[in-house]
Amino acid sequence: MDYGEKPAAMDGGEFDGERAAEMEAEMREIFRSGKTRSLEWRAAQLKGLVRMIEEKEADIMAALDADLAKPPFESYLHEVSLVKSSCTFALKELKHWMKPEKVPASITTFPSTAEIVSEPLGVVLIISAWNYPFLLSLSPVIGAIAAGNAVVLKPSEVAPATSSLFARILPDYIDNSCIRVVEGSIPETTALLEQKWDKIFYTGNGKVGRIVMAAAAKHLTPVTLELGGKSPVVVDSNINVKVAAKRIAVGKWGCNNGQACIAPDYIITTKSFAPILVDSLKRTLEKFYGKDASESKDLSRIVNANHFKRLTSLLDDEKVSGKIVHGGQRDEKRLYIAPTLLLDVPHDSLIMKEEIFGPLLPIITVDKVEDSFDLINSKTKPLAAYLFTKDKKLEEKFVNTVSAGGMLINDIALHLANHYLPFGGVGESGFGSYHGKFSFDAFSHKKAVLSRGFFGEARARYPPYTPRKQKLVRQLLNGSIIAMFFALLGWPRSG
Ligand code: NAD
Repeated sequence: MDYGEKPAAMDGGEFDGERAAEMEAEMREIFRSGKTRSLEWRAAQLKGLVRMIEEKEADIMAALDADLAKPPFESYLHEVSLVKSSCTFALKELKHWMKPEKVPASITTFPSTAEIVSEPLGVVLIISAWNYPFLLSLSPVIGAIAAGNAVVLKPSEVAPATSSLFARILPDYIDNSCIRVVEGSIPETTALLEQKWDKIFYTGNGKVGRIVMAAAAKHLTPVTLELGGKSPVVVDSNINVKVAAKRIAVGKWGCNNGQACIAPDYIITTKSFAPILVDSLKRTLEKFYGKDASESKDLSRIVNANHFKRLTSLLDDEKVSGKIVHGGQRDEKRLYIAPTLLLDVPHDSLIMKEEIFGPLLPIITVDKVEDSFDLINSKTKPLAAYLFTKDKKLEEKFVNTVSAGGMLINDIALHLANHYLPFGGVGESGFGSYHGKFSFDAFSHKKAVLSRGFFGEARARYPPYTPRKQKLVRQLLNGSIIAMFFALLGWPRSG
């Protein structure tokens, strides 16, 4: 997705490769001192974040309002409270996550103990996106801290108020020697990407995802890419349409006005059910946002003029002319585009080619609802896929045949709020996942540790190899208890 020109560097381009290298070296030294490894340090940082949220909630909400005119209800529910609950969840689970995981010993290594030790990766870089600027920055930071890493956060310049708030307030609550904020746009991010990090966690579009991956490849740095895509909603005809329409509407327009990575991108339903669904969605929209949605305080605005132009160009595509069945109004000065429904748009129209990321919702029709599964699988893999149905068999088929980062049946976006589910993409929607323990794992190396004593010296493993030793080893590997007994006694004593 090309979003056009980005704003110029926010600190006058002072943060260059040299400064980035200095900062990385400084942080690496502190990481090597072991400061970030203790449970106490990790917990103190997480507690600091909770305290920051409690004390600075008004400033956070004001920044989100300045950046996106996000309704306070959404800012609180989708950003502030989610970050706080991720923090408290991590605090509750931290000790348990850090504990080495005992695993069974195998016959080939008997006698021994085996465990998986979660080791911090080192100094990690987190680059985040503008649409949920508070959540998308701090969610991965929580995982990185919990796993015992030093962290550099590069928030999005497209949400400048939230970015500068981080730079101002984070140092008052967390250890600034190990957790830093670098503000800026392409030049600053490029300077950061030139350095050797132990992990890069990137949230944003696939075009920049490729730049991040290429930079990481130079240093063999592992990456998590949290990207987007066209998340479909399949709607069966056997549903409670009123409830479904409300859930689709709040999952689309009630999530940053469609500017959300897991917002419904398009609907697929049957030809016969489409008019019923459209009617229900129209009524719901009027109930939620009034007759003139431009007057509603409950809709975020389009983030900037670039995105406004990008979205209106999707509507101006001649391939969708006459397809708007609701909305379509726009006001460039107020960066407003009405919640818009389009029916039966052609597959080769622009709106069906790229991720929409805004208040437009096209509806595609098929003869049978099952036809939608092949249609989804013929496109690049989405970050989320939704199905509304009462048919359990159809649900099972959907789960087993459609590939997507995550799935939700009979609702929208809520899977993101479950700390026990991994959140991440597949294929073009990214790779790697986070949230809850998955965040801890995303920033940990799983170190295999096998420990043996000096008892049970199996001489059969040592040269010179003889037919007797080979026979014993074969029996041992085939699970013979008697062979194990003999091996432990150090048999055969000689060749
Ligand atoms: P964005 O413009 O904020 O960019 C993301 C980050 O990339 C920013 O920090 C920016 O400074 C940096 N960046 C931009 N251009 C760069 C370049 N040339 N080199 C290096 N760094 C650069 O955000 P965006 O890309 O507009 O975000 C929207 C996309 O992100 C959508 O595709 C959306 O679906 C996806 N997204 C995914 C998730 C997820 O969790 N999977 C969450 C939010 C958004």
